[in-house]
Amino acid sequence: KKQEWAKLKDEPTFSSDGEQVELAANIGTPEDVAGVLANGGEGIGLYRTEFLYMGKSQLPTEEEQFDAYKSVLEQMEGKPVVVRTLDIGGDKELNYLDLPEELNPFLGFRAIRFCLENEHVFRPQLRALLRASAYGNLKVMFPMIATLEEFRKAKALLLDEKEALQKEGYDVSENIEVGIMVEIPSTAVTAKQFAKEVDFFSIGTNDLIQYTMAADRMNEQVSYLYQPYHPAILNLIHNVIEAAHQEGKWAGMCGEMAGDSIAIPILLGLGLDEFSMSATSILPARTQILRLSKEEMTAYKEQILSMGTAEEVVEFIKEKTQ
Ligand code: PEP
Ligand code: MG
Repeated sequence: KKQEWAKLKDEPTFSSDGEQVELAANIGTPEDVAGVLANGGEGIGLYRTEFLYMGKSQLPTEEEQFDAYKSVLEQMEGKPVVVRTLDIGGDKELNYLDLPEELNPFLGFRAIRFCLENEHVFRPQLRALLRASAYGNLKVMFPMIATLEEFRKAKALLLDEKEALQKEGYDVSENIEVGIMVEIPSTAVTAKQFAKEVDFFSIGTNDLIQYTMAADRMNEQVSYLYQPYHPAILNLIHNVIEAAHQEGKWAGMCGEMAGDSIAIPILLGLGLDEFSMSATSILPARTQILRLSKEEMTAYKEQILSMGTAEEVVEFIKEKTQ
């Protein structure tokens, strides 16, 4: 098996009927890039920048961030790199930022909500990203977007810093795509409206599942409700992909589900363009996709989306892909 995987390391990813998708990796630090390349990653689909901010006594400087982003972009040599802006709060705390104690941290002041209210934190990150853009194929992604206004505000700050940097004489790429994570149901439901304004979507199923099922992803007692294959989740994913394609945009996924062997045939059939997963899942996923017919999976789409339970979906996929 390992030998078969190794042969596919530097190959693009095609289904058995010749349809191409992109297999990318999720990373947390520049040191993770070597493992991505060793495992045949075609890009970085999610760079979680939180690690730059964690385990410290103060905010990382613009310069420190610039070095990290530049390093990732250079190592990837022009392959796409999606960097997610700071997603702090929820389960991720920063002791030096003195965030409020909240009754429901996952429904509270986190990610883009925090960044839009704390420009002294957000702007240096945007500047570091823009400066690093000159060294590769950068795409900027905002987390936890619930409304169009949030996206517009975040993008306006990015453009504002871009203009400022150019006036200061910095080289900034003119081809930076700006997209969002779709991990809140309001955004998945109104993907059509978002698709007119964003350059891409990346579906964050880790959060999208907990918010859609109203089941805390850390709470054992309700973990039975944490169902990636629930038709509610699949219909939201379908809506997001359709909306993107109608506007000529691409849709990826960077939640755990993207590397799951039951989910992969479903997502292929729904038309997902980019699958971002842990590096070690890439070669197994490429091998699996090579044997799947996208046309066949697409033909099952309506049937799967109409099913009543996750269990039915799993049974169906097992039967069709064995
Ligand atoms: C997600 O929510 O699916 C995601 C990728 O983000 P995180 O796991 O960092 O919340
Ligand atoms: Mg998330």
